[in-house]
Amino acid sequence: MADKIEVLLTEEEVNKRIREMGEEISARYEGQSVTLVCILKGAAPFACELAKRITIPVEIEFMRCSSYGNETQSSGVVKIVQDLDHPIRGKHVIVVEDIIDTGRTMNYLLTVLSEREPATLELCALLDKPDRRVTDVQVDYLGFEIPDAFVVGYGLDYAQKYRNLPYVGICTPGNP
Ligand code: 5GP
Repeated sequence: MADKIEVLLTEEEVNKRIREMGEEISARYEGQSVTLVCILKGAAPFACELAKRITIPVEIEFMRCSSYGNETQSSGVVKIVQDLDHPIRGKHVIVVEDIIDTGRTMNYLLTVLSEREPATLELCALLDKPDRRVTDVQVDYLGFEIPDAFVVGYGLDYAQKYRNLPYVGICTPGNP
């Protein structure tokens, strides 16, 4: 049986919301510049779209973490696989993440990044599943709150598939 994907957020809805988030960030940091820290791989399409909607100067950095867990759930034990290329000390940093689930990954990463003494440190997430939270995380810019379901598309994968979908859909895996 093939995987089933049911549209949750259309491409138009997602892009409209990202445009608004870009405007919000541009207004908040007017006259300054921001460093977007894109968490690979899932946040890449979101970070690219967001960067295009920010009208103040933007630097983009990438970071990749691996979270020990199974395919659909993180364990909270996070390893930095690829670190930033440049120091963030004194910069206005916005971490760009695809989805906050239990909150464990972001809780760990924000702690690590804050120790590097950025001027400000905020979190921007496309999706949030608040029902599943086990650790407190403050999301400063949020695209959408969604129900407790496994979603794919707009960067999010299931076994590395579906990242390229231009919408967000609820995925029911079929048989392998
Ligand atoms: P947390 O540490 O908040 O539990 O997990 C966050 C990470 O788990 C996300 O960056 C993402 O990689 C993965 N994740 C959580 N929920 C989903 C989901 O519904 N779909 C996909 N594809 N990944 C998810």
